[in-house]
Amino acid sequence: MKIAVFSAKKYDQDGFSQWADASLQFRYFDSRLNVETVKMAAGCHAVCVFVNDDLSAPVLQLLSEMGIEMVALRCAGFNNVDLDTAKALGIRVARVPAYSPEAVAEHTIAMMLTLNRKLHKAYNRVRDDNFALDGLLGFNMHGKTVGLIGTGRIGLATARILKGFGCKLLCYDIQPDAELTEHYTTLENLYQQSDIISLHCPLTPQTKHLINQHSLAQMKDGVMLINTSRGGLIDTKAVIHSLKNRKIGYLGLDVYEQEADIFFENLSEQMIEDEVFKRLLTFPNVLITGHQAFFTREALQQISQITSDNLVAFAGGQSNGNELVN
Ligand code: NAD
Repeated sequence: MKIAVFSAKKYDQDGFSQWADASLQFRYFDSRLNVETVKMAAGCHAVCVFVNDDLSAPVLQLLSEMGIEMVALRCAGFNNVDLDTAKALGIRVARVPAYSPEAVAEHTIAMMLTLNRKLHKAYNRVRDDNFALDGLLGFNMHGKTVGLIGTGRIGLATARILKGFGCKLLCYDIQPDAELTEHYTTLENLYQQSDIISLHCPLTPQTKHLINQHSLAQMKDGVMLINTSRGGLIDTKAVIHSLKNRKIGYLGLDVYEQEADIFFENLSEQMIEDEVFKRLLTFPNVLITGHQAFFTREALQQISQITSDNLVAFAGGQSNGNELVN
């Protein structure tokens, strides 16, 4: 089976060459999949895509006309795929539902600790022979209240680490997890009580701009907000307003609503034209990473293995349970 792999980086190729089934023939394209690049998939049976590839109705329609029968996502989130259209066109969509949730949970904690103890500043200071501590004052994580919105695989892995720190947990999820039963509360109470709020729910019509001026108004002054889930969970302009009036004391983002035009590329020689993103970067209490929370050796291995399994199952006329559309 021939597969057109979009948004393909060297680490994707390395992963597939090491772990994928020999019956799969991959063609790698650095470009993101969209209406302009879709023709690159000509002659293939499937496309393999990542978080910022466009699988909206027009792209799926063109893929279908070219004979593409399967979309293999190399990720868990699927907010970039129009599942109804895929179903109507008879295109199978499969994902990697769980690959090392600990990878994302550990990055979430790294963001909390970096912002709290200002490691990003300390690193530069010490390299400049500046050993002064002014401006580096942090707080103990022990005893602080952390609100987790979404307690699926990643939220639960994050909760387990935070329990080890001695944090008090407040959780909100539309499908509570038995392990965290005593921690569930209302969203309103979570906003009001939490010193740190971390987002781990998917981006859906219900969760789009969950963090907006109304939810921010309910939060503690100086709250730390962390988003390693999807950029669209946050109304970025409302967040910038809350940084300016100091409602938000610390902001950690691994994802950004308009990241598709920015992340995963080296733009150091170019002008970034996104003024909202550039404004975010001006705040000293904002830490941004470029969608790297998943990026561990273990996660990459699992992604290439499970994606390969999904493709092999399809080629053999089977299902393996990872299908969103069968
Ligand atoms: P999951 O499906 O295991 O858990 C998601 C949880 O969110 C579920 O328990 C679900 O009930 C809950 N949820 C759904 N709608 C909700 C709502 N309206 N309010 C509250 N909770 C709601 O998914 P996961 O593996 O834990 O991943 C969570 C998200 O993390 C993914 O959707 C993806 O967007 C993101 N992610 C980011 C990276 C990264 O590198 N930054 C990597 C993997 C996943």
